[in-house]
Amino acid sequence: MRPHRAYVPAIADELWIEGGEARHLLRVLRARPGDRLTLFDGRGREALAEVVGIEGERIRVRVLKARPAEREPDRTITVYLALLKGEKLFEVVRAGTELGARRFVLVVSARSVPKALGREKLARLGRVAVAAAKQSGRTRLPEVAGPIPLAEVPPVPLGLVGDPRARLRVAEADDPTRPLALAVGPEGGFTEEELAALEARGFRRVTLGRRILRAETAACALLALVTAGPGQ
Ligand code: SAM
Repeated sequence: MRPHRAYVPAIADELWIEGGEARHLLRVLRARPGDRLTLFDGRGREALAEVVGIEGERIRVRVLKARPAEREPDRTITVYLALLKGEKLFEVVRAGTELGARRFVLVVSARSVPKALGREKLARLGRVAVAAAKQSGRTRLPEVAGPIPLAEVPPVPLGLVGDPRARLRVAEADDPTRPLALAVGPEGGFTEEELAALEARGFRRVTLGRRILRAETAACALLALVTAGPGQ
């Protein structure tokens, strides 16, 4: 069986695992001295480690072997995602993390029904990203930030915004050698002014086919299309 993946803030030759991660290892996985774990620090490092001691709710581990991990896309992909109703943001952060997004920036747009996001929901989105990163073997933890007004989306080197009226295909618009930003609108879509403002900051309007996709589907479809090639 593949060793359990445990997130630690920093990898050292020997270290303590504490908090929720240690409780999960002790109570759910019944970790014992001699058990092996894969540690990852969320910043690209990974190591095989062994449990060498347990003290209360802390676990002492020793690194056996640092491993090069090549499961990150070669480029940084940021997703600018309009605030969505209910639990839909969780769906995008979970699947989008599996698909390789490095950063999710939540955006308040004219037709977003929610106009704000509570701190607790933002924290929960962060936890969903950590869980999805562990499950999918990511070595970097994506960041979930915002919400920011759409007017504050910065100029980007290359951006793709999903627009059901666009004709340009993702493969024609993308350049896999450049860092990438993606943008997806809310349930009611971006306004024409918002699309023009995004274009002025380096985004190109792209189609995902002739059908109208839910925003969550569109975000995942865009990510899947830009992360399926070599080096992604
Ligand atoms: N009536 C809205 C419109 O015309 O934009 C539909 C919005 S759709 C439910 C939510 C978001 O998903 C859109 O703002 C867009 O970013 C993305 N989207 C949905 N279908 C798409 C498609 N066929 N091509 C590109 N993007 C799409």
